[in-house]
Amino acid sequence: MSPLNIVATKFAGNGVGKVRRIAVAVVIGLSLVVGAAAFYVLGTRHGQDLALERAAAGIFARGVPAEYDGLRVFVCGSGSPLPGRAQACIAVTAGESLYLVDSGAGSPAVMQLHGQPMAHLRAVLLTHLHTDHITGIPDMNLASGVMGRGDPLLILGPAGVDRVVRGYNEVLALDRGFRVAHHGIHLLAPELGVMHAETAEPGIVVEENGLVITAFAVNHEPITPAYGYRFDYRGRSVVVSGDTVVTDNLEAQARGADLLLHDVLSMRIVGTMQAAATALGAYRPAKIFSDIPTYHAHAVELGPVAERTGVRMLAVYHFVPPPGNYLMERIYRHDLPDGTVLTRDGTEFKLPAGSNAIHVAHP
Ligand SMILES: [Zn+2]
Ligand SMILES: [Zn+2]
Repeated sequence: MSPLNIVATKFAGNGVGKVRRIAVAVVIGLSLVVGAAAFYVLGTRHGQDLALERAAAGIFARGVPAEYDGLRVFVCGSGSPLPGRAQACIAVTAGESLYLVDSGAGSPAVMQLHGQPMAHLRAVLLTHLHTDHITGIPDMNLASGVMGRGDPLLILGPAGVDRVVRGYNEVLALDRGFRVAHHGIHLLAPELGVMHAETAEPGIVVEENGLVITAFAVNHEPITPAYGYRFDYRGRSVVVSGDTVVTDNLEAQARGADLLLHDVLSMRIVGTMQAAATALGAYRPAKIFSDIPTYHAHAVELGPVAERTGVRMLAVYHFVPPPGNYLMERIYRHDLPDGTVLTRDGTEFKLPAGSNAIHVAHP
């Protein structure tokens, strides 16, 4: 290139750079003006009302279930009794029917905040009767009733479920009366607020419109019986472990499934907390942290489970403890196989019929 061409290119380059700088300055300037205008408008009553109207319309539009040909899995609670997340809850939608596997504390709020189709709730399938799997039931019953559930809510689970449901129905008897007194009998018919219990045995527990739900025994001793659930719909399959150590029976049920959602315990974190509590003479937490590793699956054990079962995707939930920061998440990832989905409250999986795809979206 001649010296003249080099100079010309340099000037042309400077010209492009100048235009780019001006464009960036204009974009930043416009953003500041728009931001300042929005800040001003949202400070006025009229601006606030407009924003509120838009937000409210968005919330109710979300409550309408979209037609979807396949299985949808929504994580309404990824946590455990240790604090940090909503407690155990997995929502599975097939066609127009919504089923929950467990409903721990905080899970009704996650369902409502994410606009899940509560009116279509058909049943809550309990894996076992620990508090972190059942304490969301009253609010789930009320919220689905308010949204228009047409039948009494069915609570299906292992032996003892009738006692839990009888207790909740009695606890909520006064509330049912208060709701009718305030909102009228047509909005919240009291008979739709009384939950029904059904004791399940291992085997098929639901069969409707192509959806088959199978309960199977897992090992969460000394809590017996404890179940996991498998969903099959239009050629797609999802297995939810509930609380369990790694067991042959779960692996048999999960063989070849599309998606396995398994509970998970980090022995590195729990062991470190147990040692710290012991060193400080904190007997109670030390005792808890020494007990819980015996009845949950350890993170390092789940890679081999995924390999042996050949599941298309492994996802973990019911974190013991929930990863509350970057370090804890990295510790879990270190012990789990590449590609494992670490769920959050609000994670959604879509499994379209007639496909092998699994689409994952985090909130
Ligand atoms: Zn649990
Ligand atoms: Zn449990």
